[in-house]
Amino acid sequence: MKKVSFFQSIHLKFVLVYVLLILIAMQIIGVYFSRQLENQFIENFQNSITDRMNLLSYSIEEAIAKIRDDEDPILEVEVSGILRGYSGGDILEVRVIDINKRIIGTSETDNQNVVGQITTDKDILQSMAFDVVQKAIYRDGDTGNRIWKIVQPIRIDGEVRGAIYLKADIESVFDQLQEINDIFANATVIALSISVILGILLAQAISRPITDMRRQALAMAKGNFSRKVKVYGLDEIGQLALTFNNLTKRLQEAQATTEGERRKLASVLAYMTDGVIATDRRGRIILINESAIGLLNVSRETALSQQITTLLGIEEKYTFEDLINEQESVILDYSTPHKPYILRANFSVIQKDSGIVNGLIAVLHDITEQEKIEMERREFVANVSHELRTPLTSMRSYLEALSDGAWKDEEIAPRFLEVTQTETERMIRLVNDLLQLSKMDSKDYRFQKEIVDFTIFFNRIIDRFDIIKEQHVTFTRELPSKTIFVEIDEDKMTQVLDNVISNALKYSPEGGNITFRLEEGSDEIQISVSDEGVGIPKDQINKIFDRFYRVDKARSRKFGGTGLGLAIAKEMVEAHGGKIWAESKDEVGTTIFITLPYEHTDEDDWA
Ligand code: ADP
Repeated sequence: MKKVSFFQSIHLKFVLVYVLLILIAMQIIGVYFSRQLENQFIENFQNSITDRMNLLSYSIEEAIAKIRDDEDPILEVEVSGILRGYSGGDILEVRVIDINKRIIGTSETDNQNVVGQITTDKDILQSMAFDVVQKAIYRDGDTGNRIWKIVQPIRIDGEVRGAIYLKADIESVFDQLQEINDIFANATVIALSISVILGILLAQAISRPITDMRRQALAMAKGNFSRKVKVYGLDEIGQLALTFNNLTKRLQEAQATTEGERRKLASVLAYMTDGVIATDRRGRIILINESAIGLLNVSRETALSQQITTLLGIEEKYTFEDLINEQESVILDYSTPHKPYILRANFSVIQKDSGIVNGLIAVLHDITEQEKIEMERREFVANVSHELRTPLTSMRSYLEALSDGAWKDEEIAPRFLEVTQTETERMIRLVNDLLQLSKMDSKDYRFQKEIVDFTIFFNRIIDRFDIIKEQHVTFTRELPSKTIFVEIDEDKMTQVLDNVISNALKYSPEGGNITFRLEEGSDEIQISVSDEGVGIPKDQINKIFDRFYRVDKARSRKFGGTGLGLAIAKEMVEAHGGKIWAESKDEVGTTIFITLPYEHTDEDDWA
């Protein structure tokens, strides 16, 4: 913020106001006072002169009115005698004029030759003619001094008999007034100087806390709340400073709360697994969290200030207004032929109380897994229905044929019944397998593991198959002679190996060989069963562990397979912490590998 210039400062304003106040006060007082004083002085002066004039008038009237005899001096001499006492002081000259306008006496000793002359003074003539007192102030031509002139008619028995003319020097009165005015002017200058100093001091006293508050407000704007305004007193400004400090504290608390909330919100947004995108009221992205960046695989820079419809790649289907009105969630399918990738977006509108839309918030959720599971479930239901329908349809046809009379045919009837029996058994197997899978899917499914010598265990299973096998297939055992203790659920592992070995037998050609291997690693054992059968095409080799997947459906069905055997085996092996996979060279046989976790122990430990 820029500095306050001197001409805008409170200092100048205070000093100006003070000076103007004093000046106006002094002017009003001065004018009024000097005018009063002037009037008073002039009045006093005039009164004193008039008093003396009246006295003189009385003496002159007496002299004129007197009836003279020879002993009496002539009028001029007597008047001159009277006037002598009136010269000097403020009175400059007194003249007496008789009715014939003749000057009969003057107080001025050096100017006695005017006596006897006829006066031409207008004021004297008017005064005598109209019987009025004439007064006037004029400036003396020679000295420039102000002179007060008064002409008073001499009245004897109510008749004008002459006039007295008096000139007094009134300049001294004005000199006195000038002196008083000078004193007044000096007092004004002193008062002004004092008021300038007081004005500056007062302005400082007021402006210092205000400047402090201004500085603090600037610091607060920069986020510094640690400053405090100094409180100089408890007057209104002091109260303002206290309130200001209080306000600072409150603001600091409010800012801390807001900052805390902001941080909480930021960390919630950052650590949320769902993607969050916020837009302004035009649909431009103003916020995007890490999860959304990851889900959409874009950089923050590209995302920000882009339109939300563009970012989500739905600009062809939706406008921003559509999204505002969208009640349901929108499914964003970014799947490629090789990889499914599906997001669900839910939109909520940021609205003011007035209903004006301020923006939009989109929450993105990765539902690929969910969708995959849903697809698998649908596929599974379809598979199960199909697997059950096929035997049921064939059984229905056989049963229909039997009920249509085939039962009487001794040759056909037993064959038909045998088929229905086989199909029923297959269905039972299928249902059992399904039950087994569903049991394993449930969370409470428990294995009953115990330490088993795997060499003996494996040999026993191979022995069993050796006895019951119907084909001409030779068994080759590459098993170690030593004991290998592994912790397994015997029933479940028997089921796994039964399935693998029966598959090897099923797909082995007549006269083929099946090799059983058991190898001991450092932390696992590897079991493998290799046949010399049809093999499995490369692109399907991993799919044989999927539920209901069969390379050759007809062949599998012929052997009474359900397509669930390897899927169950895989789940069981993985539940043991092991792995199962297949390797095959087309047409040259298949090897199924199984690994199981194993802890190497010396035989002594069991001794
Ligand atoms: P099935 O009941 O059909 O045998 P499995 O889950 O046990 O179901 O096997 C799945 C599919 O894997 C079989 O249908 C077959 O196509 C293939 N398969 C399994 N073992 C072998 C093998 N040893 N040789 C060739 N194909 C096999």
